[in-house]
Amino acid sequence: MGRTPLIATPVAAFVPWQQILVFIEAIVRVYNLHGRRDNAYKARLKILVRAEGQRFVDAVNAEFAALLAENPPLIEQVEFDRVAQGFAAPLSALPEPAPGADAPRAFTRWLERNVHAHKLPGLRAVTLSLKRAGQPPGDVTADQMDAAAELAERFSQGELRVTHAQNLVLPWVPASELRALWLAAREAGFATPNIGLLSDLIACPGGDLCALANARTIPVAAAIAERFDELDALHDLGEIALHLSGCINSCGHHHSGHIGILGVDKDGQEFYQLMLAGSDGAAPGGPATPGQVIGPAFGADEVPDAVEALIDTYRHERRQGERFVDTARRLGPAPFRAAADAVRRATQTEAA
Ligand code: SF4
Repeated sequence: MGRTPLIATPVAAFVPWQQILVFIEAIVRVYNLHGRRDNAYKARLKILVRAEGQRFVDAVNAEFAALLAENPPLIEQVEFDRVAQGFAAPLSALPEPAPGADAPRAFTRWLERNVHAHKLPGLRAVTLSLKRAGQPPGDVTADQMDAAAELAERFSQGELRVTHAQNLVLPWVPASELRALWLAAREAGFATPNIGLLSDLIACPGGDLCALANARTIPVAAAIAERFDELDALHDLGEIALHLSGCINSCGHHHSGHIGILGVDKDGQEFYQLMLAGSDGAAPGGPATPGQVIGPAFGADEVPDAVEALIDTYRHERRQGERFVDTARRLGPAPFRAAADAVRRATQTEAA
């Protein structure tokens, strides 16, 4: 029998854009009434949604209807147009350059991993990788910030965006300038061709910086990045999303990683729960799905070995061209769990 869905009836399927602020206010009002502001570990909207399920949805819909009945101010077309002007495209379509010959392998790899199609011909979006040895995922120094700003000025109409995957994106790069951008980005240390690969992992700040953490994340992320620092091997493994959170608040989105790692506290000690085959709904993971926990938690020093065991299982079991997440879903968690359990040293397979 399938699990009963947490929420049977969704909140209003479509909210007219004119009413969107009213709808958001309805959500905030319900949160203010019932949210757990008394407990720092539970003071999140998602925790209220999880606890209340359909009751939360019904309360939001009722609050929304009540607010609308009071004829609140709605967003007007003139305001919409004013804001839209701030998002005008700074460039129009450009001619596509002819393909260059004899490009170095490092450049073609960067094109393959870090350069993305654009809605306008002749333009590309380019990811500056903030995942490199010796720095926590997503960290940049002040000098590196200056360098990123210079790249944005020179190649992307002064525009640069931060992504949830802890990288930077230059959204308006002429295709004819990709080679020059690659050289400049390489000089600044932003050109690692690893976007979407295992070393492009996401990690929240964890216990080094966050008062809510159950466990540290940065040293664990560094240990995994060190273990998988060989570009040829990473490219052979293909797309693998590894997400790491220091507590159940999930700022590192561990539940949506193809491999997820969650820091947990057991009697004042740090452990790490591994999850398999989650997805945030973006390609290549398929529909959004939470990962499945595989066994009791691991000690910090066991995590890189356990991750390597998962990767080795994939290497042995994958079909031609099959991605990690697809192999994990085809086989289910059992062989991955067995491989991870085999590398335990301090923790137990049944109860940690
Ligand atoms: S997930 Fe990480 S950043 Fe978020 S509250 Fe927990 S430890 Fe802090």
